[in-house]
Amino acid sequence: MHVDPKISCHFSLLSLGDELVQGKKTDTNSPWLAKELVELGLEPEELCTLDDGVTHICAALLRLAEAADVVLITGGLGPTLDDVTRESVAAAAGVGLAEDAAALAWLSGRFHEMGREMAASNLRQVLFPEGARVLPNEKGTAPGFHMTIGNTEVFALPGPPREMKPMFRNSVVPILESLGKSLELLPRARFYLHSTSESVFAEQVHGAGDWMARDANPLLAVTASHGVLSVQLTARDRTAASNQKLEQRARDFRSLFGDFIYSEAESRPAFALGATLIAAGLSVTMAESCTGGGIAAALTDVPGISAVFERSFVTYSNAAKHADLGVPEQLLEANGAVSSEVVAAMARGAAERAGTDLALSVSGIAGPGGGTEHKPVGLVWFGVYAVHKGEATVHTVSHRFPNADRAQVRTWAVRTGLMLLLQSARDLAKK
Ligand code: ATP
Repeated sequence: MHVDPKISCHFSLLSLGDELVQGKKTDTNSPWLAKELVELGLEPEELCTLDDGVTHICAALLRLAEAADVVLITGGLGPTLDDVTRESVAAAAGVGLAEDAAALAWLSGRFHEMGREMAASNLRQVLFPEGARVLPNEKGTAPGFHMTIGNTEVFALPGPPREMKPMFRNSVVPILESLGKSLELLPRARFYLHSTSESVFAEQVHGAGDWMARDANPLLAVTASHGVLSVQLTARDRTAASNQKLEQRARDFRSLFGDFIYSEAESRPAFALGATLIAAGLSVTMAESCTGGGIAAALTDVPGISAVFERSFVTYSNAAKHADLGVPEQLLEANGAVSSEVVAAMARGAAERAGTDLALSVSGIAGPGGGTEHKPVGLVWFGVYAVHKGEATVHTVSHRFPNADRAQVRTWAVRTGLMLLLQSARDLAKK
């Protein structure tokens, strides 16, 4: 089927279950499905949550099907009488229910495999609205189904997320693709930014123009998570004109936020750093006090990192900083462990002992105790050592993470350390 580049495809979601509307369970299916469908280029119309009742589910489904091209229902496919998705969809389609012989054979086989007797109530799970196509359930006993009501494609999926997700990916997506319901990604550009807040970002974007307007083309979406801003620019359609606008906006975006963009492909700072180090063949080590090995732990999540990372140092006490990194005792006494001088010596000591191109050190006051007027809780010093063609440089920088508890200070310190290393690794890789 031909996909018209200007025609968008709208979806609505219907989450079913008494426990959802009673607040006993949180609906995680709708956000997950919405995100997946938006990624695939479909546009959201409505997200709806209802308890188990044929009449109002049927009414809601008909209403949603009026406006949306695709409706996905989750839940209510189980064997008990309060699982009424099949009856509700059949009522909305104006058809009866029929047993599916292949699904019955599959379900009997499934019970046999599990060494369990199939209860009579399980037979409900192989009843489907007439004309429906059965969708296999790889992880459970409730098959899903697909049928067309009017011009709308309706999919019924099981409620448990571990059953619903594979069914969506393995059955729903291929069917939508075969029906030509969009699914060709709309042109888009992604940017991952550090060291800027959502409000500062919004102000700067506002200064540049009406980029965040709801009807802007490209559409700008921003989400903040753990100190990282993920920004997505999406063309409204697949026309050449929209594509050009997207490319221009991406260029403008780079010139406005270039200092903050750490990747256009990888959201995880440690992975962006790991990829840079591995690609450039730059070895690295850490000397961590305040973060207690958190930076090394984040970096070693990256597969293949052992090519550039051999060892690291966690030196919490002054004695350890002296014994393991060679930080002079008088330097520690004169400046205190949380100081520019000490992190510089820590970074140098770590790099020299590990024989690396780069080293990052960190020393800070995570709290809740230990703060003073000059060195308050949340103050963290970082040292970055880099050696290029035999010439070593060390630079230090301090950050304040005010109003943060111990866990937050340490998390922010890990992220900041990774970003500092990433900047240095990129600088070294360019030389
Ligand atoms: P089953 O075969 O397990 O009966 P079902 O399709 O009938 O599947 P429900 O009975 O509606 O599904 O829900 C089963 C469980 O799945 C719920 O108790 C809940 O733990 C989970 N679940 C259902 N809907 C959602 C949802 N929207 N978000 C998150 N979890 C859900």
